[in-house]
Amino acid sequence: MAQRFQLGDNVKIAIIGAGAAGLIAAKNLRDIGLFQVEVFEELDSVGGTWIYQEDLSTTGYFQSSMYRDLHTNLPKEIMGFLDFPFDDSFDASSFPSHQVVLNYLVSFCRNFRLYELIRFRCFVRNISKLEENGSIRWDVTIYDSRRQQEDKKRYDAVVVCNGHYTKPFIPKIPGSDWFSRPIIHSHFYKTPEPFCKLRVAVLGAGNSGVDISYEIRRVASKVSLCHRKCAVRKTLSDNLEECPTIEYLDKDGKVYLADKSTLQVDVLLLCTGYEYDFPFLDSSCEVSVQDNVVFPVYRHLIHAKYPTMSFVGLPIRILPFPLFDYQTRYLAAVYRGRCELPSCDKMLAEQQQQISLLESKGCKKYYHFFADKQWEYCRELADLADGPTLSCAVQQVYEDAAKFRKKEPEKYRRRKYVIYGKGPKDWRVFENQV
Ligand code: FAD
Repeated sequence: MAQRFQLGDNVKIAIIGAGAAGLIAAKNLRDIGLFQVEVFEELDSVGGTWIYQEDLSTTGYFQSSMYRDLHTNLPKEIMGFLDFPFDDSFDASSFPSHQVVLNYLVSFCRNFRLYELIRFRCFVRNISKLEENGSIRWDVTIYDSRRQQEDKKRYDAVVVCNGHYTKPFIPKIPGSDWFSRPIIHSHFYKTPEPFCKLRVAVLGAGNSGVDISYEIRRVASKVSLCHRKCAVRKTLSDNLEECPTIEYLDKDGKVYLADKSTLQVDVLLLCTGYEYDFPFLDSSCEVSVQDNVVFPVYRHLIHAKYPTMSFVGLPIRILPFPLFDYQTRYLAAVYRGRCELPSCDKMLAEQQQQISLLESKGCKKYYHFFADKQWEYCRELADLADGPTLSCAVQQVYEDAAKFRKKEPEKYRRRKYVIYGKGPKDWRVFENQV
């Protein structure tokens, strides 16, 4: 049986994290006017990933993956939240630096008066579920590092927005135990200088792998970008080559590739992605992460057994801020009783079915990878929440930028996108603007 879920008035909602996901969740849930929203943030400022932390040894649990010279890989013209354009007043370039994105998030926060909802330097240590008068409630244990005090508070709903670029995924590569060269994950990559004059193997050709390879090659003696989709070694430029993936590592920096050729390297840089991690959810929350799948979540968002717990921002290969906006508008519509949820059994069965299908194809770990399916997902959520729909222009600019990024990884950021409407032809791109 479908459930119409209504949280009632004066309901207390805890949001974990004040990155982009937590901020838009706070706005969309607060704007309904029925809920008391409180955001807990471990750091002393908003922005999460977009805060560049030069020295990770001094940070707490949250460590940003941001690197010094990073510029966005998506045009800012499509990156912003639905009601707060990321326009040229922030920066004229379509691909600004991380600092500009941080400025955008800070302005968003000021503009919508979100600061008053956030409790900074409050680290969520534990969340546990309990039943009170027949309803599910959540006990949230917070450590306030300013007051050096632990506090426990009870909430009717919890929205988890802790990000998923904190726990590096380290693949098991045979030989890594005796490989006598440093193995570093991209999470810890900050600047190219330490790679000066070195021979570097980069494993993984996602956005970070490609971007960092091109950064490092400016100072390194050689960069070999190794990945599964490459069958034959080929030179990309004087000191940068593309190689088949790594099969095993030998002593003295020798790397064996899938085509049986070898590399001699001084350092191995893993750009192999991240794992979902919710160290603060205790077993009563009944949430598990297996093979990179968060279970049980309905529509990659709502706890299928206990819908007052939700997870914003799980999908990967997406247009993040708008997708978080659609997710939280839908969440707000569900919590105020405007959208029905299927029965708990149906929600569980739906996710199980999707996972089984991927498992049969050997690609369960891509469950939260969206890419092309993000558009249908966003439009469906917009429809359900009766909100603004995603424009064709945004989708087309995303696709155009992705195509050009793949073709010209070093030059794509010189382009300038202009969007002047919502229709499929309402945008232009100008070459060599920077
Ligand atoms: P985060 O930004 O990680 O925020 C999570 C927040 O939760 C943090 O502030 C953290 O301190 C807090 N937190 C975590 N645990 C706790 C706890 N227990 N208690 C209290 N607080 C806690 N997106 C784009 O749109 N364009 C790009 O060009 C782009 N480039 C990227 C480049 C890199 C290298 C990376 C890693 C990501 C990039 N992204 C990009 C994606 C980016 O991650 C998202 O845009 C977005 O910032 C994610 O926001 P989030 O709120 O989900 O997570």
